[in-house]
Amino acid sequence: MGEIPYEQYKKQYRQLQKVTERDLQTFSNQLKDIPGLIRSGKRKPEDIKKSVTQYMKSMKKKVDDIYDENQNTTSSLTKRIKLMNCFENIKQMEDPDFNVWTSTLLERLIVDYLLRNDLNQTANHIYNSLPIKDFLDLDFYASSKRIALSLKNKNCSDALVWCSENKTYLKKTKSDIEFQLRFQEYVELCSQRKISDAISYCKKYLIPWRETHLEAIQRAAALIAFSPSTSCPVYKKLYETSRWDTLVSNFYKECFKLVGLPESSFLITALEAGLSSLKTSICSQPNNVNINCPVCNHEISKFASKLPCAHHINSRIVCRISGLVMDEHNPPLMLPNGKVYSTKALTEMANVSEGKITCPRTGSVYQFSDLRKCYVL
Ligand SMILES: [Zn+2]
Repeated sequence: MGEIPYEQYKKQYRQLQKVTERDLQTFSNQLKDIPGLIRSGKRKPEDIKKSVTQYMKSMKKKVDDIYDENQNTTSSLTKRIKLMNCFENIKQMEDPDFNVWTSTLLERLIVDYLLRNDLNQTANHIYNSLPIKDFLDLDFYASSKRIALSLKNKNCSDALVWCSENKTYLKKTKSDIEFQLRFQEYVELCSQRKISDAISYCKKYLIPWRETHLEAIQRAAALIAFSPSTSCPVYKKLYETSRWDTLVSNFYKECFKLVGLPESSFLITALEAGLSSLKTSICSQPNNVNINCPVCNHEISKFASKLPCAHHINSRIVCRISGLVMDEHNPPLMLPNGKVYSTKALTEMANVSEGKITCPRTGSVYQFSDLRKCYVL
């Protein structure tokens, strides 16, 4: 929950440090020149005083702007930590804080899912209508989406700027996303048959990666000899436009990894965990659908098909008609054809059909008095 504001906080702190150090250094150099300028009569003391004051004011403004931004981030981070800490004090589900905690988290998961799937209008609606602004990171998604969009439009410039801004992190994690972007720009030059530009580009941006990407660079060098209409599979593949989609996907992976977010949405992960804990080996079988089981739901069953089943130590017998558990409070009754349903469901059926019971599986009709109590050992 706090990953993105924490990364923002670190970034703002580094930016503040960088701006302050650079401006102070410039200021200090200018101060050294002042006595000489006055002595030589090149500048009047009043002018120097004016320009120094102006410089200090602009320096202060820069620092103030970063500080204000930092305050917002800190406030958001503090609220998120407070919400997480709140969970520790919740002793039971009836606690009002439990509802606040779960609904905030669920709304966050939904917005995260919507933003990852380009459903921005709905995400914005939730953002504006619910009091969860401090727990959402719309700016992060918007900026990463902007870069991804420029990649979709076959432009690597924004993504390369992002690489430059996060150079330290990318180096530390040994990411080669910058190489991928450079490689794609090189392929575009080859595609446009700008051979001379392609050679210069290769020397400047690909060769520095030779220690780790020699094979790819060799393939890039050979690409010059092949036009986009080539039938040679290796080089034809390099000209495929689908490489841009891969680049978009890889960019998102790096972007999410940078702030500690998983590749897939939290909502899907939570849903998978929940469904897997409910799934039984007979879920979704056409003859064994439990109307109250989310996994047996027609839409969700496709989603849950690849998930593992939960390990249930004790079995529960569920009524096929009502979906309710059959136990001592709702005991099973057996029809003459051997089919078993719950007392509650059969009683309700008998009450509305003059004591008649119709077996939902075979269509056979019986009297309620034909039913026998059933005991499961
Ligand atoms: Zn089921």
